[in-house]
Amino acid sequence: MAKRDYYEVLGVPRDASEADIKKAFRTLARKYHPDANPNDPQAEEKFKEINEAYSVLSDPEKRAMYDRFGHAATSPGAGAGPGPGGFGMDFDFPGFGGFGEGFGGSFGGLGDLFDAFFGTGQRARSPKPGPVRGADMRYDVEITLEEAARGAQRQIQVTRTETCPMCGGSGAKLGSSRKKCPNCGGTGQVSTSRETVFGHFVSVQTCPRCGGEGDIVETPCEECGGAGRVRKTRRIKVEIPAGVDEGTSLRLGGEGEAGLRGGQAGDLYVVVRIAPHPVFKRKGAHVYCDVDISFAQAALGTTVEVPTLYGKAMLHIPAGTQSGTMFRLRGKGMPYVKGSGFGDQYVSVRVKTPENLSERERQLFRELAALRGEEVEVKPKDRQASSTASSAGQKESSGSGKEDASGRGGRHGFFDKMRDAFSGGGR
Ligand SMILES: [Zn+2]
Ligand SMILES: [Zn+2]
Repeated sequence: MAKRDYYEVLGVPRDASEADIKKAFRTLARKYHPDANPNDPQAEEKFKEINEAYSVLSDPEKRAMYDRFGHAATSPGAGAGPGPGGFGMDFDFPGFGGFGEGFGGSFGGLGDLFDAFFGTGQRARSPKPGPVRGADMRYDVEITLEEAARGAQRQIQVTRTETCPMCGGSGAKLGSSRKKCPNCGGTGQVSTSRETVFGHFVSVQTCPRCGGEGDIVETPCEECGGAGRVRKTRRIKVEIPAGVDEGTSLRLGGEGEAGLRGGQAGDLYVVVRIAPHPVFKRKGAHVYCDVDISFAQAALGTTVEVPTLYGKAMLHIPAGTQSGTMFRLRGKGMPYVKGSGFGDQYVSVRVKTPENLSERERQLFRELAALRGEEVEVKPKDRQASSTASSAGQKESSGSGKEDASGRGGRHGFFDKMRDAFSGGGR
């Protein structure tokens, strides 16, 4: 079932100090302790809930996480499920595994309990609980790089707590209203006096009937059962601006969990994930890709078609281009989110060494090598080989040329030289 907001459980504002939280916990723990409510499963539930809320809100680290992510942090997959666009929800908060410790089985925080019963803080001077802001929520959305470049729209589905539309959050049945608490007369506090041998003692406590609110629901609202809030699943349209990067967090104000007692709703944070792209790598506003060209194209120059995020573009590659040369397509990168303009696209040229040559191609390469005075490997079988030479034999020879240049006594084959020439001369 819907989990109540921890601040709501303890009846403290979101900016409550540690001391205030401790005080609220003591008051409530005293009220709902199983010893004080024998055979009352509801009180026991309430006591556990109070304990859980306190274990989180009393720990600055856990409290900070809860403030940011709400119950999403503690209940993975709450309201989850694949969204309409084929993306999933992802509630993954590293370092958040310790949640729940301290109240499994036995009631944790014995020291605090001891304080609650015997410690200070007897004077419940806290006024009626004020408005409580609703918890924030988080939703992850995955988009493509193209969508990130142009901006995108998503319908997301979130299940959240909303103020009950029937009673407007009062919890009272339609036509009725909350009544002044008869136990405390609307003050939210009760005092008891005792005569002892030491004198007359008065202790003031939070009214157990209304929990300090000063009023009660006599006839509960049929929609929310008196809670004043209901769970609702909503479809929300999210505008993803062009240029967003991996992990960008979009805040949708007031789209989180409902507040309490007139407190404002929390916010919804939509976290953008960008799917890996098969062609492009992105660094900030610039994108990078590779394009393959042949020996002849590299030597003689060519114009090739390259993909961009905005369709195809023609790239002129001048004669004599070396493998690894980078060309820039100005303005074909990602748009800048803030400000105007676009990043660039960088195209890295890879010269592919031809493989599986035909006899005719072999002959032409040998002639070219001879023209340029380059020494190449000429195997006897090259002369015998017909155009139907087994491809296994060709693989073998090209394989040895690739991996074992030193094994041949320092002789550099034609392909080694070519590769050296094209990759900028490594050796
Ligand atoms: Zn209601
Ligand atoms: Zn009362």
